[in-house]
Amino acid sequence: MSFSFKKIIATVLAVSSFFYATPLAASAAEKKTAVSNNTAVANTESSVSANTGSSVVADTGSAIKVIKVVQATLSAKPVKATVKLTISHKKQKGAKITGYAIYKKNKAGKWVRRTTVKKTGKITYIDKYTTSSRKNIYCVRAYYIKDGKTYYGKLTKAVSVSVKVAAVRKKVTDKNSPVYGKTLVLYCYADGSMVENPTKYVNENSFKTYSLYVNKGKQFVTAYGVKNGEYYPLRAFICSPGYATPVGSHKIILKYRWHELMGPCWGQWCSKIVKDGIYFHSIFSSQPNSNNTISVRAYNKLGTTCSHGCVRLQASSAKWIYDHCKVGTSVTITEKKGYEPFKKPVIGKLPAWHTWDPTDPTAQKYCKEHKCHKYAK
Ligand SMILES: [Zn+2]
Repeated sequence: MSFSFKKIIATVLAVSSFFYATPLAASAAEKKTAVSNNTAVANTESSVSANTGSSVVADTGSAIKVIKVVQATLSAKPVKATVKLTISHKKQKGAKITGYAIYKKNKAGKWVRRTTVKKTGKITYIDKYTTSSRKNIYCVRAYYIKDGKTYYGKLTKAVSVSVKVAAVRKKVTDKNSPVYGKTLVLYCYADGSMVENPTKYVNENSFKTYSLYVNKGKQFVTAYGVKNGEYYPLRAFICSPGYATPVGSHKIILKYRWHELMGPCWGQWCSKIVKDGIYFHSIFSSQPNSNNTISVRAYNKLGTTCSHGCVRLQASSAKWIYDHCKVGTSVTITEKKGYEPFKKPVIGKLPAWHTWDPTDPTAQKYCKEHKCHKYAK
């Protein structure tokens, strides 16, 4: 299976943005000011020698308006992009303007002149040489040539243009995958990379049916929404299965908000998947129904094979399953290697005193008190 895109996908993002230039000025002194205010300007034009005063260019109150349009195109990483700048300028009566100079900030943060347009009013500049990974910052200034000398107005405020690459839907079937034979609906960027959080594009609450795949060998769970026989990967949850976790096809048969587990200990958002007591559940607590006595050791082992057979999860993951997957939801436990839509999640470790799960919405207050974690859904 390949994720490379043969088709060219172009997206256009139009953002209107208005930048008002200060009135155009003409003196060498002003030019110097403008340059020093905006770091160095690579100016290869012959500079103004004499200060002829502000009477040379009399353009007051007019504005240079920069409208930006981004066109991102296809394949290779980083994505190649084209930025189109539209510059409009309502020239005031009596203003003396020959044209506009367009600058772009280079990687060192210095303004470099990209082009000079000998025209006034509305002009367009297309920057063909950029990529999705680059910051595109531009500014413009008017200039006026008289007697072989060039006079500049002030630089406009910087206009920042980011290239946003829209995701596209792609259907994939992969024989060498835990979801063997299923059609996956993926959201990818034009360069083929998966969208990290497809729930931006697909409403994860909109499915009537979900399906869970536990990759025992890789210690993570992928949650799919199922619609018209197609599988939409929605979430990946890091987990701790055990060697005894039974490979095969199962179903959720019972759910408990809190449940006593082996130990004794207690887990939250428990979904029973095998009759003799295999559950999805949160990291266990040593006290009944207590969200503040979890095993920090067990939490820090998430992503390894270490349970007695249950599939331990972060609280938010166990809750997601509890909330979304009704009794009857299919659960496939597999050791199959091969393609997985998501990478195994990486989570941080907890210090010994942090005896609650930072993803547990009912324990948010403890993190707030200790200023240790920001609760993220
Ligand atoms: Zn915390």
